[in-house]
Amino acid sequence: MPHILIVEDEAAIADTLIFALQGEGFTTTWLSLGRAALEYQQASPADLIILDIGLPDISGFETCKQLRRFSEVPVMFLSARDGEIDRVVGLEIGADDYVVKPFSPREVAARVKAILKRMTPRAAPEVATALFVIDAERVQISYRAQPLSLTRHEFRLLQCLLEQPERVFSREQLLDALGVMADVGYERNIDSHIKSLRAKLRLVAAEAEPIQTHRGLGYSYSPSHA
Ligand code: CA
Repeated sequence: MPHILIVEDEAAIADTLIFALQGEGFTTTWLSLGRAALEYQQASPADLIILDIGLPDISGFETCKQLRRFSEVPVMFLSARDGEIDRVVGLEIGADDYVVKPFSPREVAARVKAILKRMTPRAAPEVATALFVIDAERVQISYRAQPLSLTRHEFRLLQCLLEQPERVFSREQLLDALGVMADVGYERNIDSHIKSLRAKLRLVAAEAEPIQTHRGLGYSYSPSHA
């Protein structure tokens, strides 16, 4: 059974989460400090971390940043504020989902399930196309034999496009591939991820345009332009 680490300094909130998650068959560990969570995750990695933003020692954001130096574990933020900035910052620094208090513990448990389902490794660990090689295990993509230095969102975007050449993905579908909720505003960030992805591809092949824009529709990977 998946093991969920809950990092939350309010016992009452942690209790409702533990109750809801255990009801779904998850095992749980509860910690109330960011630093303790980092140590815990290094020693005995959980399958997913529910991370409060307002913690007594270091913030949830800072905890997540430090976590990302050594772990790709899915993170769901809990926030007391419903700020768009918080949400965007949270997702940018590598969270997989974002929930605002007060929340329904059952909904959180359902989202945890959904994230873990998405994280299940794909059947084919390595997909090779003519010019791109995807190494899903190492979260690495090579283009014309050169390893690309990608953020995890860029990796997932490119992986999604490469796996179905010529298919036009809408921004919403790409958001889905990133494993984030389709919140208003965040959809536009797909454009900025694509922009930085293209810049990295251009460093390898200045003339190529493997990612095509389809006005009003979205993006596709076009092998003939790679
Ligand atoms: Ca708190």
